[in-house]
Amino acid sequence: MDPIEKKEKCGVFGIWGPADSAHRTYFALYAMQHRGQESAGIAVSEEGVLHAHTGMGLVSEVFTPRRLAELGGNAAIGHNRYSTTGSSHCNNAQPLLQQFSGGQAAIAHNGNLINAELLRKGFEEQGHIFHTSTDTEVIFHLLATPHHQNKSDPLYHALQHLQGAYSLVLLFADRIEAVRDPWGFRPLTIGQTPEGHYCVASETVALDALGARTLREVEPGEIVTLDDEGMHSRSFSERPSPAHCVFEHVYFANPSSRMFGDTVQLVREKFGEQLAREAPVEADYVMPMPDSGRSAAMGYARASGIPLREGIVPNRYVGRTFIQPTQHQRDTAVQLKLNVVDEIVRNKRIVVVDDSIVRGTTTRGKMAQLRRAGPKEIHLRISCPPIRHGCYYGIDFPDTSKLIANNRSVEEIRQFIGVDTLHYLSMQGVLDCLDLPNDNYCTACWTGQYPLDVDKPISKLGLERYQMKMFEG
Ligand code: SF4
Repeated sequence: MDPIEKKEKCGVFGIWGPADSAHRTYFALYAMQHRGQESAGIAVSEEGVLHAHTGMGLVSEVFTPRRLAELGGNAAIGHNRYSTTGSSHCNNAQPLLQQFSGGQAAIAHNGNLINAELLRKGFEEQGHIFHTSTDTEVIFHLLATPHHQNKSDPLYHALQHLQGAYSLVLLFADRIEAVRDPWGFRPLTIGQTPEGHYCVASETVALDALGARTLREVEPGEIVTLDDEGMHSRSFSERPSPAHCVFEHVYFANPSSRMFGDTVQLVREKFGEQLAREAPVEADYVMPMPDSGRSAAMGYARASGIPLREGIVPNRYVGRTFIQPTQHQRDTAVQLKLNVVDEIVRNKRIVVVDDSIVRGTTTRGKMAQLRRAGPKEIHLRISCPPIRHGCYYGIDFPDTSKLIANNRSVEEIRQFIGVDTLHYLSMQGVLDCLDLPNDNYCTACWTGQYPLDVDKPISKLGLERYQMKMFEG
C-alpha cells in the first residue's frame, strides 16, 4: 500500500518532569514520523507559561537545534500531523495553543471529531472566533464556556460533548491531561522513563525510543493526569463496547509497537499465515511488497513453505516530495519508488503479499512494473478484506466512490490490477488473529458497520442529530 492513498492524523506525545522535555518530545515524534509527515509541533510549559513551535514538514525539518534549545521548561507535548479535517496549512499545525478564561492550554489530537462541524456552528452563532479549520479547536471553545469553567472539572464536562475518535494530550501550566475517547478508536499508552518521569504516546515505539517502560494503555473513557505529584486517573464516561481500529494493525502502526493487547509485527505475521491457509497457491517465491507487505509475507511464506525472496526493492530516498496530484504524476512516482530485480522474477511464479488496496491504481502500476520483468505468474494476496467504506474516525481514505472495492467484485478488481489470481484475507480471518473478542474492534471500512453512528449522506462531519445540550440552554 502506498502512503499517498491513505493518511492518518496523527501521532501525539506528552511528558511531565524532565528539564529536557522538548528534546525528549522531539525524539518521540521522530519515532512516530510514520503517523504524520505534513507538520510537526512541540508545546512546552516553562515557569508557568506555555510556548509552542509548529511548522510544516518532517520533525527534523521543523526543529533545528536552535529552535529546540529555545523550548525550555519541564513539560512538553508534541504532535505529528496529517490533515483529515482542516486544510494543509501552517495555522492548523498542532499542538494548538490558546489563551482563554481558564488560562493557557495546548492540545494535540489524534482522531476525528464527527460532531465538530455542528459544535463549531453553534459557537460561531454565539460570536466565537475560530483561528483554524481543524476539528480540534472546538475543544478550546468547550473548555472556555463559562458553563464549564464554573465547574470543578471543566475538562470532564467539555468531553461530554465530543463524539468521535480522540486520543488527546492537553498541556496546562501545571499538568498534562491525557484523554482517550470512550470507544478507544486510537491508541494511547502510558510510559515511565528510567528516572521515573511519566509520559504518554500514541505508540509504544516512541516510549521505546526514550528508554521508557510501557505501563499500560490509557483506558477508553479515561483521563490520566501527569503532574508534580505523579500520575492520577479519573473516568469521564461509561465505556461502551471498545472499537479499536483494526487498520492500525493492518497498516498504520509501526510493526514494533504494541497496542490493543497485541504486538503489531506478530499480528501481521499471523495475517500472512491465515492468508496462506485461506488462499493457497503453488509458486516459486513469496515476495513482500515493500515495506507494507513485509510482515504478512513472512507469515505467508512460513505457513505455505514457499521460500521468501525479495525481488521488489524500494528506493528509500523517494519520499513525500513525490506526492503528486495527478494520476500521471502518481504513476511516475510509483515507478521511481520501486525497482524489480529481473533475474529473480523472470519465469517464476510469484506470490506478492501487500497489506491493502485502496484506489487500485497504485497497485496496478506496481503489478505492471513487475509484469515487465517477465514472471510466469503473479498471485496477489492482500492481508485484509476489500475496503468498501469510508472512515469517519481519523483515517483519511479517499471518497468512497474512489475506493476500488466500493462497486467492483474481486474478479473485476483482479482484471483491473492485471494479476493471475487475487485473494483478500477474510474479515473473520483478520479477527481470529487478534487477541480481544471480535466486538472490541472497529471494522467499519470493510463491513460498513459503524460502531459510532455517522450520518454519511450529509457530510463527513455534519451530524445534525447530535443534540447540543449546551446550546439548548
Ligand atoms: S473505519 Fe477502518 S480505518 Fe476507520 S477506525 Fe474503523 S477500522 Fe479503523
